Order: sequence, then structure tokens, then C-alpha cells
Amino acid sequence: MDFQEHINQLFIAQKKEWKQLRTGLEQLDNNKIKEFAWGDVSVTVQFNPSRIRSAAAKVDTESIEKRPCFLCAENRPKEQRGIPFLDKYVVLCNPYPILRNHLTIPLHSHVPQRIRKKIGDMLTLSELLPDYIVFYNGPKCGASAPDHFHLQAGLKEPVLIQGDNELRSCLTIETENKKESEDRFEDVYQYLHTRQPDEEEPMMNIIAYRERNRYILNIYPRRAHRPKQYDEEGNKSLLISPGALDMAGLIITVREEDFNKIQSQDIEDIYSQVSMPII
Ligand SMILES: [Zn+2]
Repeated sequence: MDFQEHINQLFIAQKKEWKQLRTGLEQLDNNKIKEFAWGDVSVTVQFNPSRIRSAAAKVDTESIEKRPCFLCAENRPKEQRGIPFLDKYVVLCNPYPILRNHLTIPLHSHVPQRIRKKIGDMLTLSELLPDYIVFYNGPKCGASAPDHFHLQAGLKEPVLIQGDNELRSCLTIETENKKESEDRFEDVYQYLHTRQPDEEEPMMNIIAYRERNRYILNIYPRRAHRPKQYDEEGNKSLLISPGALDMAGLIITVREEDFNKIQSQDIEDIYSQVSMPII
């Protein structure tokens, strides 16, 4: 049995033995969606109330230090089992899914969310999971545990593998060779660092996947953590905290009123605030 099949079996087994995951998957089946299009560019908006914890997560240093880390082994639900990856990660089923077979892949050790030296691990995981996308949210770009390194993954969908378009920036690295992809990522990292020299890590989201035996990295440079609508009140408010999936084209709304009122101009406005233009 290959790695991907092992993961698919883990999902089947965990669904039987873990009620919280079952509830999350049933919820995912019932989530409402709306679709928007700009020519051949598409954006899907998903109403997913189970993501409120993530969208409303306080990720300032003080709040993070006060809470027990939900990615550390001792704080995980007792029913949650995983499959080891590279002897330093564990692949877990996410009980609050946005995607089919939504996985969370934390490192065993509690170290900050920083991608620079781990992009190779991300590419390796995409190689082992050819039907999935593997994604990364920077510490100020949607990660709800910025203090504990983790990747995520889920089954591939067309809306998630859109490259650069008129709504937001995306830098794509496509190679046959993994080492070449890592080297080119380092160049992009260095460039983004010159644009945001004061950040501990340049703000970005990344989606990695395999297609036609090639490694593909879509990098979404960011200039803001959340759009201004996040802090507005009343009619102007939209509780949207974009991560990699939102940047790709799957926007998550956690409140029904936001799902009902969001229009194409709001989507354009949100992308223009959080995406960093690349000249
Ligand atoms: Zn931790």
C-alpha cells in the first residue's frame, strides 16, 4: 500500500472511531457555496461555520502564549491518530475540514511557523500525495497556530490550482527536479524578503502539487494579514481571514450573513488589500 492509500485508509478508519471528525465531514457535505467568475478566473465562496475558531483566532503573541497548543501531541483529542511522515511529522485528519480529506501535518517539535528550510519537505509530501494539494499559511497569513510548524493538505480541486490572475498575484515555480524547485524558491524568498525586510518571514501562502510528473509551487505574496472589513462593524463587516485556499480562489465565510452579502466587488477589494503586487 502506498502512502496516499495509507492516508485514505486513515480517513476511513478515523471516520468510524472519531465522532468529531464524522460531524465535521457531514457539515462539509452541507456547506453552501456560491460561485463568481471573471472571464475564466473563478472564485468559490464557501459558508463553513466550523471554521469560526480559525477565522476568529487571536494570533498575537500574548494570546498564543496563554493557550495550550492544539498541535502538540499532549493536547490533541484522544481519538486522533496519525501516520508518520519523514520521521519528524505526523499526518492527521482535520476535524474542521474545508476540503475533502483535509489533513494537518504538524512537526513533532513545537517550533515557529517558518517555511524557508522546509520547502523541500512540502515538495516531498506533494510527491507522496499526487491527488492532493499541500498548503502552507505563513504566521501572519492565516495560520491559527503560528507557534507550531505545520502544513496542511486536501484533495485537489480546479479552483485551488489557479496561477496568477487579475485578482491577485501568484508566482509559480514549475520544475521536473525537486532540488531546482527548492533553489528557485530560495530566490523568490530572498526577493520577497527585500520587499518586507522587517518581517521575520516575508508574508506568503504557498500551494504545492504534482502534475504531469512536475513539481508545482504557487506562491501568493501578501501585504496584509486580514482585510479592513475584518475589523469593521455592522453592514461593512466581513469576517474573512484569508489563507492559502482563499488566495487560490476558495474563500471561506464563517458567518451566514457574510456568505449572503458578499459580492464580486468585495472579493476584488479583499484581494487588492491582502495580495502584494509583484512588479
Ligand atoms: Zn505545539
